[in-house]
Amino acid sequence: MICIPIVDATHQEALRSIERSAPAEDAIELRMDLIADGELPRLIACARRISGRVRIIVTCRRREEALPPASLEHTERRKNIPRTMKMRLLKQAIELGADYVDIELAEGEKSISELRRFCEKNGNRTQLIVSWHDIEKTPSLKELKTIFNACADAGADVVKIVPYARRLGDNIRVLNLIDYAKGRHRKIISMCMGELGQVSRIIAPLWGSYLAFAVLPGGGKSAPGQLSVKAMKEFRQLLRRQQPFPQAWLLPPGAMNFILVGNPVRQSLSPVMHNTALEALKIEGHYSAFCVMDPAAAVAGIRGMNIRGASVTIPFKTAVMDFLDEIDPDASAVGAVNTIVNECGRLSGYNTDWWGLTRALKDKTKIAGKTFVVLGAGGTARSAVYGIKKEGGRPVIVNRTADKGKELAAMFDCPFYPLESLGGIKAHGLINTTSVGMYPQADQSPVAPELLTDYRVVMDVIYNPLCTRLLQDAAAAGADIVSGAEMFVYQGAQQLKLWTGRQAPLELMRKTVYERLKKSEKRHQGKK
Ligand code: NAP
Repeated sequence: MICIPIVDATHQEALRSIERSAPAEDAIELRMDLIADGELPRLIACARRISGRVRIIVTCRRREEALPPASLEHTERRKNIPRTMKMRLLKQAIELGADYVDIELAEGEKSISELRRFCEKNGNRTQLIVSWHDIEKTPSLKELKTIFNACADAGADVVKIVPYARRLGDNIRVLNLIDYAKGRHRKIISMCMGELGQVSRIIAPLWGSYLAFAVLPGGGKSAPGQLSVKAMKEFRQLLRRQQPFPQAWLLPPGAMNFILVGNPVRQSLSPVMHNTALEALKIEGHYSAFCVMDPAAAVAGIRGMNIRGASVTIPFKTAVMDFLDEIDPDASAVGAVNTIVNECGRLSGYNTDWWGLTRALKDKTKIAGKTFVVLGAGGTARSAVYGIKKEGGRPVIVNRTADKGKELAAMFDCPFYPLESLGGIKAHGLINTTSVGMYPQADQSPVAPELLTDYRVVMDVIYNPLCTRLLQDAAAAGADIVSGAEMFVYQGAQQLKLWTGRQAPLELMRKTVYERLKKSEKRHQGKK
């Protein structure tokens, strides 16, 4: 993730910087200690209006931990914000749905746990960055590890450690620290400040630092040594191109291989769908399914055999996340990866399930402003809830096991109702994410037909059978229906785009999947 610091002296200037930065990069950091008259609600609303995907970090840096570049002469206008006011501001950021708030370790255990609890109370939409900066030097690796552990133990979702480089070797300490954090499966942002620390600003994100700070042309830096976004991207490309992976050179030019990682995989339609698409796009390569026992070994295999991309299915969508170098923010928010992209040995995880689900739904209805019942609270329900919220809709969770339903509802800050209350809920649409109604139980439905009369649209994530009992009942009740096959095709098309950069042959993929499903339906009917 590249994050642009917003460090303007006035609210109006900050709004202009947000307008330029929010659509351009992955994240922005609102430095409320520098934006003298900054009104947080308006700044956040501006960023959200401009980009639905930009991540927002709200920070109110202690004077003792900030070292602005001399050229900007920020020092004079840095506010020394009292602790109570700072806590109020960070809590307001949490209430406003900021993606991250940053608090320094030096603010103390009491303040940090107060914020942690506040995040929980607000549905954990906001992640806590616990940070530590040394504006004079880089301590030893041993000391850095102690500081890291203190930040992690304080309740950080993401630990941020930024010392000042006095010599080039200091950069190696922060890279070692990133390795240390990765070994503990913790997210870390780390680099060195200062001109000599620029090396770490380029390498740390490739090494596993969660995000990197960079500036747009004419934009203000929040720390000395920050590079331009353009320079960061050029360096990154150069380094990636030069990574020595001889396997890549042994493959015929343009050859790309792909795999499915899951258990079981025998019934999967992904191989036939993707191989048909690869052939149509004239991409030399093949997609094969592997029934996997050990997700760590499977991921090592993807790296070692220079497999360009992988689909991940049940039961490994969460387990593989620990072994990847980078997780896309959407996948991180859903808590599951169904797609891996291999860039010369560096593995990134994505989630295309939520995208496929909302894309399929949008063929039949608007999502923004509408209420949707999400039936179920498993992995696919998480994708559904995340996707509906991201599109501006209102998900309502209904699940058989109350504890699981409540947990999901708390995670995404939305209501939960027990299965028995389904009849009393007023909603525009219903999405079934349970496996009720899948072959061989194709005569079952998770919802009684008399409860389906008020929905305008009903979607079933199940795609075998193509038209489940639930969808048949919903169509009879007058609702528009969406088959899980549509979600399957769209999520696959998005995977292909991530792997190859090419637009997927959607119609061909759809035709292939529907033909296979109809054939299998005939087989099932023949057996009856
Ligand atoms: P999961 O994590 O195991 O969750 C299943 C959910 O279904 C749980 O919340 C469970 O409720 C509920 N459930 C199961 N049996 C039930 C029953 N008899 N009555 C009421 N609720 C019941 O599964 P998942 O990974 O989310 O997968 C769910 C379905 O999505 C599968 O059929 C899968 O094939 C499909 N899927 C489709 C696509 C696509 O592209 N179309 C993609 C991914 C998955 P409890 O919490 O009470 O146990």
